[in-house]
Amino acid sequence: MQWENPKAIRDYSYSFKAVPRGGWLPLLRIFDLVEEFELTVKTPEEYKVLGIGGKISDTVEGEVRTTKWRADHPVTFPSIIYGDYFEVESSVQAKKIDGTPIPVTIHVDKVSMSEYQLVPRQLQTLVDEAAQSINLYEAIFQVDYPFDKLDLVNDPVPALYGQAPSSVIYLGSLVFRSMGTLANLGSSRMDATRISRFMRSVVAHEVGHQWWGASVSNANSGNYWFVESLAEYASAYYLEYAYGQKEYDAQVKEWRDTILRAEPLASVQNASIMWSGDKGFGNYQAAVYNKGPYAFHILRETFGDEKFLRFMRMLSRSLAKKQIVTRDIQYIAEVAFGGDMGWFFDQWIRGIGMPQLTYDVSYRATEDGQYVVEGKVQQEIVLGEDDTVLEGRAFRGAVPILIEYRDGGEHEQVLLIEGEETEFRFKVPKEPRKILFNNSGEILFKSMDKASL
Ligand SMILES: [Zn+2]
Repeated sequence: MQWENPKAIRDYSYSFKAVPRGGWLPLLRIFDLVEEFELTVKTPEEYKVLGIGGKISDTVEGEVRTTKWRADHPVTFPSIIYGDYFEVESSVQAKKIDGTPIPVTIHVDKVSMSEYQLVPRQLQTLVDEAAQSINLYEAIFQVDYPFDKLDLVNDPVPALYGQAPSSVIYLGSLVFRSMGTLANLGSSRMDATRISRFMRSVVAHEVGHQWWGASVSNANSGNYWFVESLAEYASAYYLEYAYGQKEYDAQVKEWRDTILRAEPLASVQNASIMWSGDKGFGNYQAAVYNKGPYAFHILRETFGDEKFLRFMRMLSRSLAKKQIVTRDIQYIAEVAFGGDMGWFFDQWIRGIGMPQLTYDVSYRATEDGQYVVEGKVQQEIVLGEDDTVLEGRAFRGAVPILIEYRDGGEHEQVLLIEGEETEFRFKVPKEPRKILFNNSGEILFKSMDKASL
């Protein structure tokens, strides 16, 4: 086949030109998996080309530069950019699991460099975060970074976002601004905190797409959710690794706040293909970038770090180079955690609604000098801002109850809730001072209130 599309190049400025990301190759949709990829790119001699996989040659003849690109791993969403750049290499060495170095370079076109008054120090931070993320994800997922190199490149538009074709990461030019400048864009302190967390995790999220999106991709747009949900979950791992447990917890809390603010009407799985509320993209984001990763957080809290990590590894390793659907993830969860996991995916991924809980709890001394804590938890599944009750439905989940004793010390008891009402009774050795449910957001509720008697 011979094919011509001379208008497929976006000529943004002297120093930045790129193909449209929505698709520019014939017969290829954005998330189609290209099993074998080899491409020859010819440009005017003065430009540097950023391509896919690895560069196998770069020659100049007269005024024409010819670069050849090949990927030894299937690719999705191939993108070609060329321009005149200011470049910085990572000072952290990214490596394949066998030790082979992976060059990680950041490129900002020269026009943007002066237009946005960027300084090299900002570039160094971003490119180092990318290299660190590669090393971290290889350690967590035990699957190699799929390509020979990673190029980060600015998108000259003044936007705060990232996007990740195979072996390339686009960053909107605002990502290169200093944290201080950006925090001033927010209208409140909360915005400033969210923006600064976004800034610290955006590169890690995009690098996450090299595993979730490139290594494992979705079979169709009805199963796109996990590409975002797992890249986002990976970036929370990065926050935990780079900034400590507190930042992971803060990210989880932010997911929760976003879900409760937007109240998506479509399920996580369907949000990519269905209307999910009046807030449009905000509802979609709440489902796919917040509720989806929260579901993985619940799995980690319910089954523990070790089993969860094993699950993530099985997921990454057995699904590598495949195009998958939600059921593939569920089957692996069933192997990793044991037993049927359909209920979990029905609740959090395929289904709609959020549990709203009321509890009633009391304690009393027993003859043996200990204390009995007893009560019940009732649940309703509600949907949307007006809390429409979804009749006849109930969620299953492990809700931790934290008992703080009067004389110091604490005890954690896990309560398995199931059905509309769950009664509980257990003994503790000392007198409780406080009894707290779901204290660290281990599971997701719309609300959990004490019953008013
Ligand atoms: Zn993403």
